[in-house]
Amino acid sequence: MLVIGKIESILRERRGLRGKVGVVLTMGALHQGHLDLVKAAREDNDHVIATIFVNPTQFAANEDFASYPRDLDRDLDLFEKAGVDLVFTPTPEMMYPPGFETHITVEDVSQGLEGQARPGHFRGVATVVNKFFNILQPTTAYFGQKDAQQVVVIRHMVRDLNMPLKISVVPTLREPDGLAMSSRNVYLKPEERAVANVLYRSMRAASAAYEAGDRHPNALRKAARAVLDAEPQVHTDYVAICDPRTLLGVHQPSDRPVLILVAAKLGKPRLLDNCLLPFHLNNRADLSAILGV
Ligand code: AMP
Repeated sequence: MLVIGKIESILRERRGLRGKVGVVLTMGALHQGHLDLVKAAREDNDHVIATIFVNPTQFAANEDFASYPRDLDRDLDLFEKAGVDLVFTPTPEMMYPPGFETHITVEDVSQGLEGQARPGHFRGVATVVNKFFNILQPTTAYFGQKDAQQVVVIRHMVRDLNMPLKISVVPTLREPDGLAMSSRNVYLKPEERAVANVLYRSMRAASAAYEAGDRHPNALRKAARAVLDAEPQVHTDYVAICDPRTLLGVHQPSDRPVLILVAAKLGKPRLLDNCLLPFHLNNRADLSAILGV
């Protein structure tokens, strides 16, 4: 596995690659969920390129950019064992040299949900992802369902700007109790960790209502809310029932798949989770067909 820090060097390496190139973008502090993206990329491609870059422009001033967990040696070891061929590890100064002034704004789908809680976040994400796509020229880029709104933003960008690549969506990997794996889970205190699967439990409650035939978004939201509200440490930010392609709120019962998205603060971290209903659609093929491009 080759580890490359400089943009000129990765451009040179990329020019030498023939065949399909799968790309996995990360901020490091790797867990098995990241490695599932690598596994999917390995299955589909001749070469796999991964990035490790904590992108300053997607963090607001009050967020955890400086303290975001970083462990490069461990991450490189995990990537190597997972079968990554090339790791690109640029610095913020390389990605944003003096005079940098071009940004990508994906309009409506960046506004609500996480976009409302984190103004400017998706502008930073879309811009850095666009830069990585230009540098790495992926055949397919792999994104986690975990960050569903991010996938929707990137899908819009790729379609709107005619980027010649595919987006594949990999299901959220969970701890045995259902908590979605996340680099920020290390912030949870033991007593918080003990209840942190409440987001998953809330979505399963909505799923149970759905399976019982209740398709009204208010009923689905109510079923999820009841589970969240039973945990006093958990401060729910939103439970949203949305169209998975537009992220517009769904207000009437529908037989089309819906995306339930949950965000809540538990101690220091803000926890996110989501799933498609009906629940059996949360597999790579259906997720990629519904959320990908
Ligand atoms: P991050 O390092 O948090 O920016 O995440 C890098 C990529 O890994 C993104 O596409 C995430 O959606 C994805 N990812 C994060 N957590 C998980 C998870 N639990 N399961 C699957 N993919 C994930």
